[in-house]
Amino acid sequence: MSNPGETAAIVVAGGVGLRAAADIPKQYQLIGNDSVLALAVRAFLDHPCVDAIQVVIGAEQERLYADVMPPHRKLRPPVAGGETRQASVAGGLDALAESSPARVLIHDAARPFVSASLIDRVIEALGGNNAVVPVLPVASTLKRIADGRVAETVPRDGLAAAETPQGFAFAAIRDAHAKAAAAGESFTDDAAVAEWVGIPVVAVAGDPANVKLTTAEDIAAAGRRLAGEDALRFGDVRVGIGYDVHALGTGHEVMLGGIAIPHSRGLVGHSDADVVLHAITDAILGALGEGDIGTHFPPSDPQWKGAPSAVFLADAAARVRARGGRIAHIDVALAAEGPKIAPHREAMRASIAAICDIDIGRVGIKATTNEGLGYIGRGEGMAAQAVATIRLPYIR
Ligand code: MG
Repeated sequence: MSNPGETAAIVVAGGVGLRAAADIPKQYQLIGNDSVLALAVRAFLDHPCVDAIQVVIGAEQERLYADVMPPHRKLRPPVAGGETRQASVAGGLDALAESSPARVLIHDAARPFVSASLIDRVIEALGGNNAVVPVLPVASTLKRIADGRVAETVPRDGLAAAETPQGFAFAAIRDAHAKAAAAGESFTDDAAVAEWVGIPVVAVAGDPANVKLTTAEDIAAAGRRLAGEDALRFGDVRVGIGYDVHALGTGHEVMLGGIAIPHSRGLVGHSDADVVLHAITDAILGALGEGDIGTHFPPSDPQWKGAPSAVFLADAAARVRARGGRIAHIDVALAAEGPKIAPHREAMRASIAAICDIDIGRVGIKATTNEGLGYIGRGEGMAAQAVATIRLPYIR
C-alpha cells in the first residue's frame, strides 16, 4: 500500500446538471439525507490513505457547495472549474500543485457510491504504475446507430466501461493535462489524457455499484436505493412514552427543555427539575426497554443533586446510538398554568435537538394550561408527557 501521506483526491463537481433537468445541479441534489457530492467526497474523507481532497465546483456554486459540505481538515477550499470537465480537472491539479502529492485520484462527483475497497484497489495498483483505471466488462451487445438504424454490431471482446476514481502519478497527469490543453485536444476522461501522451494505463476491476448518476431518474432511483437500505437497516421502529411531574415552589425561573425561563415560581426537585427533559428521557429509555431515569440516575445518589437534566437526556440518546440506532422523533406536551411557552418554543426545540444530537425538525413541543383545574390549575406544579420514536437495527 502506498505511503498514506502522499495521496490526494480531486472530486470533479463542476457540472451544471443539464441532463438531470432539475432546479439545481445534480451533484447538489439530495439522495437520502445527503447530497450526491457529499456522499462522493465522504468516501475519500473517510479513507485512511487519502490525505487531501480538492473539490472543483462550477462557476457561482460557492453557496450550493457551502450548504452541503461542512469543513473538514482534509478538505481544501473548493476551486472553480473550467468550461469542460477536462479544464476543471486541470484546475484541480493546479490547485494541488503547491502541495505536490505523489499520487492523485480523480473522481466524478456524480458517482456517490464509490466504495473504500475500490479506492484501495486503485491506490494499490498505483504502487507500480503511473496510471490506473477501474473498468467493468460490457454486458450488453453494442450497436452503432446511424439515422435511427443499426449500422453495425460492435464486437464487445476486449471492451470495458471506464469508471472513476482513476489514479495517476501526480506530476505525470498534470504534465499530460497541460500538454493536452496546449494542443487543444479534448478527452472525456483522464485515462484518455494519459494515453494520449503515451503513459501506460493499467486496468483494475471496477465496482458495478459505483454507478454514475446522469438523469433525474438516476437520482430518484439512488434515493430509493438508499431509503430501502435505510428501512432494512433501521427496521425496528419503537415508540416510548414518558411522564413527569414536579412541584412549584419559591424561585424566579423554571428549567424547561434545558432552557431557563423566567417565572414567578421555581420547580422543586432533586436535579434541576426539568420536567420536559425528564419526560423525554423516560420516553427514550422506554423505547429501548432500558428502565427509567431513576434506574440510571437514582435520586438517592447525591451526585445528581442539582444536576442539569441535559446529562440524563444525553445519556439516553447515547444509549440509542450504542444500540446502533437513531432517534426519529420526540414530541412533548407540557401542562402548566404558566409561563407562556410559545416565545421559548424554538429555543427549547434547539436545546433538545442539540442534547440528543438530532435535527431540530425531529423535535415537537406544545404546551397547554390546565384550565385552572386541579394541582396544575392552582399553579402547584407542572406535568409533561413525551413520546419518542426510535429506530434500531432489527435483531430478532
Ligand atoms: Mg422528574
